[in-house]
Amino acid sequence: MTAPMHNEQIQSQWARVRGKLRAEMGETAYRNWLKKLTFLQIRGQEVELAVPTRFVRDWIVSHYQDRLRTLWQAENPTLRAVEVIVDSNCLNGPVETRPAGRMAEAEPVTAEIVRRESAESTSGNFVGAALDPRLTFDEFVVGKSNELAYAAAYRVADSKTVPFNPLFLYGGVGLGKTHLMHAIAWHIRKRSPDRRVIYLSAEKFMYQFVRALRDKNTMAFKEQFRSVDVLMIDDVQFISGKDSTQEEFFHTFNALVDQNRQVVVSADKSPSDLEGMEERMKSRLGWGLVADIHPTTYELRLGILQAKAEKIKQDVPAKVIEFLAHKITSNVRELEGALNRIAAHATLIGRPVTLETTQELLHDLLRANDRRVTIEEIQKRVAEHFNIKVSDMHSARRSRGVARPRQVAMYLSKLLTPRSLPEIGRKFGGRDHTTVMHAVRRVEELRASDSSFAEDVELLRRMLEG
Ligand code: ADP
Ligand code: MG
Repeated sequence: MTAPMHNEQIQSQWARVRGKLRAEMGETAYRNWLKKLTFLQIRGQEVELAVPTRFVRDWIVSHYQDRLRTLWQAENPTLRAVEVIVDSNCLNGPVETRPAGRMAEAEPVTAEIVRRESAESTSGNFVGAALDPRLTFDEFVVGKSNELAYAAAYRVADSKTVPFNPLFLYGGVGLGKTHLMHAIAWHIRKRSPDRRVIYLSAEKFMYQFVRALRDKNTMAFKEQFRSVDVLMIDDVQFISGKDSTQEEFFHTFNALVDQNRQVVVSADKSPSDLEGMEERMKSRLGWGLVADIHPTTYELRLGILQAKAEKIKQDVPAKVIEFLAHKITSNVRELEGALNRIAAHATLIGRPVTLETTQELLHDLLRANDRRVTIEEIQKRVAEHFNIKVSDMHSARRSRGVARPRQVAMYLSKLLTPRSLPEIGRKFGGRDHTTVMHAVRRVEELRASDSSFAEDVELLRRMLEG
């Protein structure tokens, strides 16, 4: 046999098959599933491919086997079938090219960092929170909705200089802001152990500041934060409104940025949407790179579930994973929680996970996810209820008969959706957030003083909640 030549040909056929699949299914699906495929051999008329786990095999067979066969046949018409086998060794095959590599899990250095971290946490008076060893870049699954935030975080962690200051990460609950901040800290601690990194929540920052004030120790407090190379403050929306802490945060922030130290901040809203934050602070927060994390896409949810199932070594049928990715759209934390619940149940009962047990176990969670209302639905329902046109929700008309229902709809939007006041204002014909705030207050007042109005609102709320 002319083995080397033959082999080379096959390898380039395989490269073309992979290239086409990649183009057809997009980067996320490719990375999450098909990248795990290793070419083994051609035996007779059959191509043999391997994947690291049974889970991935089931998935690929049920979704891509036909396509794989067609693409192979286009390269080599003598081939009749594609076989995918499980071979745990092929984990050592083609390495993923995510910049962080796959090192963090296995290396003892992780434990080392944890020890150093906890020693540090107890030694000083003020310092950051402990880091969660699970929250590394390596464990972070990247998709369309979070790729900008991921890239920015990685850039900050990996560069010796300050690429943008501050990095402002924002997005809804459970979409990975804290995860990325911990990942930055881990990465820097590993790569440049002498850079001083502090991560803490805005609440903890406030608490420490208040304590320093009480103990007349504010000098030490300031020193502590102003001598770091990288300061990360999580959930800064909690600082808003608290005047003296906001002031202190502003000074700390400015001092660090002026000295060209890296600052990373997260919040649940964009800088300009932060309520109760001083204008100068908002504008300063938006000076660097502002990266938002969007709600997850179906593909990303699949990727995350698959990664987590593999991690906890639980055999979850592809059908169940698909089902969960379809149904649980709120955030990653709930997705993780759902998977953990069915995994725990399976282990306890000693029976494999099925679609039926999943539906049964998660019915409460699934219902809650079904029930998520949108501002559009609220506008429609409220308009129907008060017998006005939906377009009046956006119109400039101010007559009471239209303005009142509009206020009720704004109020319910604030109550039932995670949208911010400015976002709500935009959906009501581009109104200002103060108009929404006023509407919310007005409806609250009326509910307290007018019982039939209160009943109306209550009825609408229940209807909308399903
Ligand atoms: P946030 O701080 O935005 O509220 P977290 O960072 O705490 O959200 O994320 C919630 C949970 O979801 C964490 O357990 C985190 O590890 C996980 N998670 C979020 N996004 C991802 C992702 N892209 N890949 C893997 N896990 C994720
Ligand atoms: Mg968080």
